Amino acid sequence: MNLTAESHRIPLSDGNSIPLLGLGTYADPQKTPKGSCLEAVKIAIDAGYRHIDGAFVYFNEHEVGQAIREKIAEGKIKREDIFYCGKLWNTCHPPELVRPTLEKTLKILQLDYVDLYIIELPMAFKALEACKDAGLAKSIGVSNFNRRQLEMIMNKPGLKYKPVSNQVECHPYFTQPKLLEFCRQHDIVIVGYSPLGTSRDESWVNVSSPPLLKDPVLNAIGKKYNKTAAQIALRFNVQRGVVVIPKSFNPQRIRENFQIFDFSLTEKEMQEIEALNKNVRYVELLMWRDHPEYPFNDEY
Ligand code: NAP
Repeated sequence: MNLTAESHRIPLSDGNSIPLLGLGTYADPQKTPKGSCLEAVKIAIDAGYRHIDGAFVYFNEHEVGQAIREKIAEGKIKREDIFYCGKLWNTCHPPELVRPTLEKTLKILQLDYVDLYIIELPMAFKALEACKDAGLAKSIGVSNFNRRQLEMIMNKPGLKYKPVSNQVECHPYFTQPKLLEFCRQHDIVIVGYSPLGTSRDESWVNVSSPPLLKDPVLNAIGKKYNKTAAQIALRFNVQRGVVVIPKSFNPQRIRENFQIFDFSLTEKEMQEIEALNKNVRYVELLMWRDHPEYPFNDEY
């Protein structure tokens, strides 16, 4: 795969494509000044990002939409250059709420469609297919699905569209070997969230797993290429076909996280990083622990 800053899209099973690097936009609304997301998305687009990951429940989708629209108005990009992924939150999952929630997102973004819309519960998938048919979402996918849930959808009688992607936690301390292999076999792209090991906000992150970016192996490999541990962690996933969506609202780090297309890791380094896997999640979604579809009770 010849990945460059200008060209790092990979195909999706429905004929569309997704940039391997995107900007994550979740930040605690209580602790984040208004406008931070707007500025971050504009800086990201100027730096070369063409993929933005957001959600209605992040409470900053209006800022994402404004940034995209301003950059289109400036002539920097066209709408079709940008890949925006929106998502439903669990509480919005009764099937009849899928389309209204997506329509709300489009109204907030002031855009006509999202490029990818993802859901977290299997029973809403039919409603999601209808959103693709209506042209509101170009592609449809899932998030935090385990193998059983993916199979449940794919074996559903009358399935019209397969999920093109599964957004799950993925980084050198949680490399997802089995889920990744299963998804590869079924042409489902893995989108890795928390690719830098999260913000370590104790209100939702399992901080018993050590900080990823302090890892000696990532830092030693980084030294060789004059790169940071963050850049090595991102390059590792991108090089094995996993999409990454690092969040930063800091101009310097937004640009740093994009500088991963001017070097490549050797096969041996890829294996060394793969061996860092601890199989421990930072993001356990414990608030959903008692839900019958809580995804993390299965091995993968
Ligand atoms: P992340 O991207 O792994 O890490 C973000 C944290 O790392 C922030 O505190 C950020 O701070 C810092 N950071 C960014 N670049 C850095 C660098 N080069 N060096 C050092 N620190 C750096 O974590 P995440 O926000 O959990 O995940 C990314 C995105 O995935 C989210 O924003 C969201 O869009 C998505 N997500 C989805 C789900 C889901 O259930 N589907 C769950 C979690 C996350 P600064 O902003 O100060 O740079």
